[in-house]
Amino acid sequence: MLEGQMMDRPLQIIDILKHAAKAFPTIEVVSRTVEGPIHRYGYRDAYKRTAQLAHALKALGIEEGDRVGTIAWNTFRHFELYYGVSGIGAVCHTLNPRLFADQLEYIVNHADDRVIFIDSNLLPVVEKMADKFPGVKAYIVMSDRENMPETSLPNALCYEELLAGQPETFDWPLLDEKTASAMCYTSGTTGNPKGSLYSHRSTVLHALGLLAPGVMPFGLGTCVLPVVPMFHVQAWGQPYAAPIAGTKLVLPGPKLDGESIYELLENEGVTLTLGVPTIWMGLLTHLRETGKRFTTLSHLVSGGAAIPLSMIKAYEEEYGLNVVQGWGMTETSPVCCAGANGPEMEGLEGDARHEQKLRQRQFFGVELRLIDEDGNELPHDGETQGELQCRGPWIINGYYRNEEASAAAMTGDGWFRTGDVATISDGALLQITDRTKDLIKSGGEWISSIDLENEAMSHPDVAEAAAIAMPHPKWQERPMLIIVAHPGKNPGAEAIREHLKSRIASWWMPDDIAFVEELPHTATGKVSKLQLRERFKDHVLSTA
Ligand code: ADP
Repeated sequence: MLEGQMMDRPLQIIDILKHAAKAFPTIEVVSRTVEGPIHRYGYRDAYKRTAQLAHALKALGIEEGDRVGTIAWNTFRHFELYYGVSGIGAVCHTLNPRLFADQLEYIVNHADDRVIFIDSNLLPVVEKMADKFPGVKAYIVMSDRENMPETSLPNALCYEELLAGQPETFDWPLLDEKTASAMCYTSGTTGNPKGSLYSHRSTVLHALGLLAPGVMPFGLGTCVLPVVPMFHVQAWGQPYAAPIAGTKLVLPGPKLDGESIYELLENEGVTLTLGVPTIWMGLLTHLRETGKRFTTLSHLVSGGAAIPLSMIKAYEEEYGLNVVQGWGMTETSPVCCAGANGPEMEGLEGDARHEQKLRQRQFFGVELRLIDEDGNELPHDGETQGELQCRGPWIINGYYRNEEASAAAMTGDGWFRTGDVATISDGALLQITDRTKDLIKSGGEWISSIDLENEAMSHPDVAEAAAIAMPHPKWQERPMLIIVAHPGKNPGAEAIREHLKSRIASWWMPDDIAFVEELPHTATGKVSKLQLRERFKDHVLSTA
């Protein structure tokens, strides 16, 4: 090999903030604090406080490779932890406060967290189970002394007291870029949660990937508000991408309702915002109820679950936004694909345009393939559905300390099995149609539950819809649709059938349609099909 003559400088997370402190010292990180008031500082001050935090972590005895848990909202202190913990070579392990107690117990102990940083209003999440975490040496409440609540937690320390008086510079270690930097467990719809362990290299490359031109606006003069939580897959990489680009970062704290989000979007001049469809539904309801409009927002990114076509339409037509759909998983850092804004949009108007936006273009660095049940590769013709597999530098090569799950997830030739079912068109436009475990297989043919739900949600009275497979004596499985109507609406099964008739193949028509007050959701805000199947397990289809 003729080796290139280029410096072997590792990709390091702390270098992102170091750069922003120099290049964009006064560009702000704005947070709605847990206590309520807005906190703001520039990247330069954020970097200084991160150095203070690094000293505090050292004083707590945190060593390279140690796992540091966080149970926290999107705020500046969580941002400091993202950089300070990784910066000293430790692992920032974000924990979802909405997890069930047994999942949290498993995750904290499996990751072997040394200490846990926790927001003051989330203390009840761990207070009742502290005796289940024998390895956790201290709990650091992310607050100042004045706002520290009473707590029964053993060895509870105050974040601001730990930072006070620490030096504002830190001699950051030069880390191998493959060093673990952060971790996140998937909520796990079956079995125990599984950990994805990110590295400095994967995180920096993922952040650079997000900055691909034409997908999301980044750079000086732009402002991003990630509603997606920092406890869920690193807030989709925004806390890393924004400082690289000199983008202002707005962190919404614990208030994620439509009114609170709208207020921040307007007051802070946000241009880009990211979150799951449930959040966008809340915001849309608020906009419609109040007649409010956006004055600065241009791009709305939706991911984590399929966005209904009706929602794309509403935001684009009524509010003039550019809706960008992204696809990813905890295991993929997460973003692998986002946006359909290229030549595929040319000449498309109205509904055809919105429908094209259900697809998303793969990023440089990510490779995708579709595989059938016998392991054969399928064509990318926009029609053939198969299991989606991917590979790339920000995709896991196995789960943290879990050989069984790793073996099941990885193929012999080094691809990651996503468990999603998809089509790919025009070479690189992905559309997720299902999860392998949620598939409805009627007489040997797949029915896309996502398509079915989407069409149901295009009915004006339908707020949310979920399709599940029910056993059937003739067809093995048939679809059942479960619907939540908008408040005060009562469409009835016949109206839904009539609506679906012209929109889906006749053999996709749900055998039964049920109406419920609400659908069960997972800790990450997605419809839990597992719980839904459980709830309807004794239901016998009227056609059976
Ligand atoms: P969890 O599994 O903990 O709920 P993840 O964020 O890892 O959280 O979930 C990833 C899954 O979310 C994907 O495998 C896919 O099923 C779903 N998903 C993510 N983005 C999309 C999208 N744009 N369209 C449809 N499904 C999506």
